[in-house]
Amino acid sequence: KGHLMRGKKGLVMGVANDRSIAWAIAQAVAAQGGEVAFTYQGEALGKRVRPLAESIGSTLVLPCDVSDDAAIDETFAVLEKEWGTLDFVVHAIGWADKKYLRGRYVDTPREAFLTSMDISCYSFTAVAARASALMKNGGSLLTLSYLGAERVMPHYNVMGVAKAALEASVRYMAADLGRDGIRVNAISAGPIKTLAASGIGDFRYILKWNQYNSPLERNVALEEVGGAGLYMLSDLSRGVTGEVHHVDSGYHVVGMKNPLAPDI
Ligand code: NAD
Repeated sequence: KGHLMRGKKGLVMGVANDRSIAWAIAQAVAAQGGEVAFTYQGEALGKRVRPLAESIGSTLVLPCDVSDDAAIDETFAVLEKEWGTLDFVVHAIGWADKKYLRGRYVDTPREAFLTSMDISCYSFTAVAARASALMKNGGSLLTLSYLGAERVMPHYNVMGVAKAALEASVRYMAADLGRDGIRVNAISAGPIKTLAASGIGDFRYILKWNQYNSPLERNVALEEVGGAGLYMLSDLSRGVTGEVHHVDSGYHVVGMKNPLAPDI
């Protein structure tokens, strides 16, 4: 067991099950001696998150629907009471009605747009405001994004627009919070088969496409995103803020289909 996170306490938001990116990051942090609290969305997921949390010695497991300011306030009130200070937060939360994760972006109704923007983008800002108030010794805030923020990906649609706003918010908050020693970064992960991903149209095709056409010629593993998360949350990345770090087998540098790849 390493000690990169020894003495650090933080919150991981967005574990739904053991395939969640949030869980991979939490495991990497715990393996390096970090102390982790968790939030979950609704009791059905709470039942899954509690045993996972227990398995890495976490005792703080709280409900928090991030569309509700009062729920976010309550979460950070509990953390303040239990811990006093906070060193890191992982925001691994995104949502859009899957009805709109197919077809044309241009057909997105206002309500679907606003909800996905609220959950997938604004919630990180709302969390950062509360978390930063507890980061008396500086800290690290981390969110998860996808290449669909920068380029057009089939079916990603309204989520791509929300992720673009999320990445912009990473830069603005990095500028706001830097003087307090608080860093704000995102990991742009390659496609991974999770609960959230299952809502995206043709996801199996997207996985294959990335596997064949990325420089590493494979998809990324959850543990690889976990490792990058550990880097962003630990002092190893203490000179890094405002960054969107791609953990995608290098897919984001590619401009054309790999001529050696088999047809899909
Ligand atoms: P996941 O389904 O395991 O996690 C998504 C989480 O968001 C769930 O825990 C869910 O409960 C939570 N959530 C949704 N609405 C919420 C709300 N109102 N309040 C609180 N929590 C809410 O899937 P994942 O793939 O691990 O997703 C984590 C993050 O990674 C998301 O931001 C996603 O967009 C991003 N991401 C995923 C991939 C991928 O291919 N899986 C790639 C790049 C980025």
